[in-house]
Amino acid sequence: MFYPENFCRTRAIKRPSKMIFRQFFDPASSTFTYLLASRENGEALIIDPVKSQSETYVAAINAMGARLVHAIDTHTHADHITALGDLRDATGCVTIMGDMSKALCVSQRVREGDLLKVDGIELKAIYTPGHTDESFSFVLNPAKPQAVFSGDVLLIRGSGRTDFQGGDARRSWDSIVNKLFTLPDETVLYPAHDYKGCTASTIGDERRLNPRLAGRTESEYVAIMEGLRLPNPAMMDIAVPANLACGQ
Ligand code: FE
Repeated sequence: MFYPENFCRTRAIKRPSKMIFRQFFDPASSTFTYLLASRENGEALIIDPVKSQSETYVAAINAMGARLVHAIDTHTHADHITALGDLRDATGCVTIMGDMSKALCVSQRVREGDLLKVDGIELKAIYTPGHTDESFSFVLNPAKPQAVFSGDVLLIRGSGRTDFQGGDARRSWDSIVNKLFTLPDETVLYPAHDYKGCTASTIGDERRLNPRLAGRTESEYVAIMEGLRLPNPAMMDIAVPANLACGQ
């Protein structure tokens, strides 16, 4: 493995400012969840919430006097159960996924280039298949990209497995290299998981330092991904059916 000296160089990363930004971590599945609001007592949105943490999110939203209007899943997760259904029941929020998702409890489906606007916060949906065939990423403030929520297609010094749920290593390469890597270098990368204690990266750092991608060709990347031979996630047989049914 390739661990550069500045691995997890998070102190140098400029976090989104002029907004309320909370990053939650679910230790059981190593999942990151992001809560964004432009101000106290305003409207909020959440990305990739985990069912077992629903009460934590609701408490945080209530503490800032906010109203949750959007709950977004980047893709159908195989390693944890989504909180989309619980949050919709608790707050009346609109549940959002990409237009190819087969999940039942999605009340709004986004397509490539769609803009989500919540109280001054703008997210642009970009279709980034590869980890699954229905994964989307979301660019914060697309006019001058501040951050991207990449789900699992691009991880910090890694990338999401491509061996189930319609995954495809060539499409993963295309999504990362031809879409995510065209964002400005300073765009902060917020993935849905990290397994090594990192919390954020940047597009520039991943272009230079991601050991699966930096200096690689597409066929080298495909060979790496196809050679991973990972065991299935422990919760996969429970999580995927549950996530197609609102996490219930
Ligand atoms: Fe995933």
